[in-house]
Amino acid sequence: MEKTITSEAITETGEMKRKHYDMVINGKRVAGAAGDTFETFNPATGEVLATIALAQENDAEKAVQAARDAFDHGKWRKYPVGKRSRVLNRIAEIMRQRFKELVKMEVLNSGKSVGAAQVQINQAIEDFEFYAGAIVGHRGKVNNMPYGFFNYTHKEPVGVCAQIIPWNYPIMMAAWKIAPAIAAGCSVIIKPASLTPITAILLNEICHEAGVPEGVVNTLPGSGAVVGDYLVKHEAINKVAFTGSTPTGKDIMEKASKTLKRITLELGGKSPNIVFEDADMDAAVAGSLFGIFFNTGQSCEARSRMFVHESIYETFMEQFIAKTEKLQLGDPFDKTTHLGSIISKEQLEIIDGYVQSAREAGATIATGGKKLHLEGLENGHWYAPTVITDVTPDMKVVQEEIFGPVVVVEKFTDEKDVIQRANDTTYGLGSAIWTTDQGRATRVAHQIQAGIVMVNSPFSAFPGTPFGGYKQSGFGRELCVETLDLYMEDKSVLAYYGAKPINPFGV
Ligand code: NAP
Ligand code: MG
Repeated sequence: MEKTITSEAITETGEMKRKHYDMVINGKRVAGAAGDTFETFNPATGEVLATIALAQENDAEKAVQAARDAFDHGKWRKYPVGKRSRVLNRIAEIMRQRFKELVKMEVLNSGKSVGAAQVQINQAIEDFEFYAGAIVGHRGKVNNMPYGFFNYTHKEPVGVCAQIIPWNYPIMMAAWKIAPAIAAGCSVIIKPASLTPITAILLNEICHEAGVPEGVVNTLPGSGAVVGDYLVKHEAINKVAFTGSTPTGKDIMEKASKTLKRITLELGGKSPNIVFEDADMDAAVAGSLFGIFFNTGQSCEARSRMFVHESIYETFMEQFIAKTEKLQLGDPFDKTTHLGSIISKEQLEIIDGYVQSAREAGATIATGGKKLHLEGLENGHWYAPTVITDVTPDMKVVQEEIFGPVVVVEKFTDEKDVIQRANDTTYGLGSAIWTTDQGRATRVAHQIQAGIVMVNSPFSAFPGTPFGGYKQSGFGRELCVETLDLYMEDKSVLAYYGAKPINPFGV
């Protein structure tokens, strides 16, 4: 237990206290062996926030050895389950005590609105509480056997896990990964996104303060192409859990196959949002608006393809566009801000490039469609919430994940036809249906090829709901009880207790 390594990131008056963050290996803060560092930014202002130790391959090797040693020789997985559960609850408790600080750092490093950060950090806390409870009741079973035999399934942690996460929900993704893995008894190495490393490092420090033994949780800030790649190929890593883009997920799957690692992939999406003619109009407008624009559209389950029944299209779109234009962008710490900044200049250009392509292909930009220059935030990366209509299925904006505040809208007339169009994508992560007809809701929900269907709900998940994709959105489910099994092996213990010895060869 390395209680000494935790310390606040900000002062009581809210000033940045730490201007440099080291990686966390074996319960200690460590600089990289080569002494390299990189800068991390506040994307809302463009200012440098802090420097971060840059992990290279030899640092990754140290992390693997520490995690391996903790798993093979350490006590964490041998603790009674109640004790692991208590530590997870303690992590949640410390996070709650340090809530304001975590929110502040998350907003500073990601540019998201303070409201969004609060919701996400609350969820990260609840993830630890959820798995603290779930692991206690998670057990193997006794199986029916022929007379004299006894067989039980012993659930054992899978081993050392590399967990590679994206920048859109920095601490929440870290919690989604760490909580079930350590609840199961695994050791982990977190590879945060290079754009947003700070809160994952803070969370790792909190894990130690809460009593997670050294080596069980390690954090390696560094390039995905270097240390991420190193971990994915490493023989001593048993599992890779990845959230991020589909191309990187495919690359990881290919590399991890060489050592047959267990993998979980939570990848991109192009989720449909279907508004039927019998929808509650107010709820559908508000929920569809949130469905695309929350987290500034930088979300894997963003409902970015909207289908609206033609009989309500005019009325719905009038309200939807009017509300889109009411969304406030600006200082992420201002409580009235709905949308924070885009994560980086590169991402801003990608988004703008998609919108340009739609323009050139003849679509209509109903609102938005431009970079914004906000007073006092001129060096930040800002994009207007954008609604694109008159699109055709072949357009890039309809096919590809944009990962920004951009929604494409199509009309439909027929239920069967809209299901077919909703499924006409290589992705299958989220989907939303707005209807007051329960029969229709069920019928459509069961035909949509996606891991998540929201019925009249603006929210896609809570701790306990399975989260994950069909098709090229990946596989494996996170956030739910079953996730624990993705961090465990079912060992079959088969014993013979019959009165007479057995001599199968008869010799
Ligand atoms: P990405 O390449 O998938 O990165 C996600 C994570 O994987 C980061 O930690 C990254 O590290 C790491 N990584 C990158 N290349 C790797 C490799 N070869 N081996 C192992 N790990 C690797 O995503 P991105 O480049 O940040 O964003 C690109 C696009 O992905 C976005 O425009 C968006 O469309 C999509 N995206 C999707 C999600 C999602 O939740 N589905 C999340 C983020 C982005 P570095 O940060 O050091 O590169
Ligand atoms: Mg990348």
